[in-house]
Amino acid sequence: MKQDHRTLRNSGQFNGVDLDLARGETLGLVGESGCGKSTTGRMLVRLLEPTAGTVEFEGRDITHASSRELRPVRRRLQIIFQDPYASLNPRQTIARIIAEPLLVQGSSARAARLRAAELLAMVGLGDEHLDRYPHQFSGGQAQRVGIARALATGPRLVIADEPVSALDVSVQAQVVNLMERLQRELDLAFLFIAHDLSVVKRVCDRVAVMYLGRIVEIGDKHEVYTAAAHPYTRALLSAVPLPDPAQERRRERIILLGDPPSPAAPPTGCTFHPRCPKAQRVCRTEQPSLQVVGLGMRKAACHFPEIQ
Ligand code: SF4
Repeated sequence: MKQDHRTLRNSGQFNGVDLDLARGETLGLVGESGCGKSTTGRMLVRLLEPTAGTVEFEGRDITHASSRELRPVRRRLQIIFQDPYASLNPRQTIARIIAEPLLVQGSSARAARLRAAELLAMVGLGDEHLDRYPHQFSGGQAQRVGIARALATGPRLVIADEPVSALDVSVQAQVVNLMERLQRELDLAFLFIAHDLSVVKRVCDRVAVMYLGRIVEIGDKHEVYTAAAHPYTRALLSAVPLPDPAQERRRERIILLGDPPSPAAPPTGCTFHPRCPKAQRVCRTEQPSLQVVGLGMRKAACHFPEIQ
């Protein structure tokens, strides 16, 4: 396993998850609400305990690491949450919020405050904000503070859990631009969790599509977006509006039947079969494994993948 490389396998009820990220890479994790994306992200940073499988970070198994053993790992593995206000302590100043991970790691108060000012500048906010409180910030500014805090300890991998979906559309692009710039400058790896496939297409190198807690397709973003192999991926992509008005008029939507079933009682065989327009008899009884399709590195979990 290479440096800065991590994998989650067979984790609890989400027993089809097998992800790895290389240094400096952005992997998008997409799927409908409730499919298990955020749970997976929280398991990766050990905010939730995986009940099976392993989490490896930089070649080290951290699945059962104790709080003490996790402390040095947390310096290099951070998370940005969806709701910037909910993730910032309303009773603490911004300086304290950003400095907190540094103080936990043993920095002096003075060094942590200086570093907080540097981090604020890095995310486009002046040091006049240091002594303000979260409620004095707009949503976009609060998310910048959340990003600054995540970067405080110099992480190599950041789990970004729907980082822009709670923001106004006009602010989303600014925060995405910021994340792209920081990734380039700091050589960060991102796991970018989102339900907006347009944002994922813009920021990610590879895309993983999750359905009912399992990865059903994963591959290079260009391959997945132009020639999706799994019927679920094709349905998700068919819902994305196209910028060209002529193409948008010709866009054919694939409408899925019903809602996703409960992860606690998944259907037999392929868990997507009750909603799949291509389902055959075998799909009801045999669960497809994630296998390479076509000539590239893309994988899909489908007995009848589209190969173009
Ligand atoms: Fe559809 Fe069958 Fe493929 Fe599942 S295995 S996605 S039901 S065609």
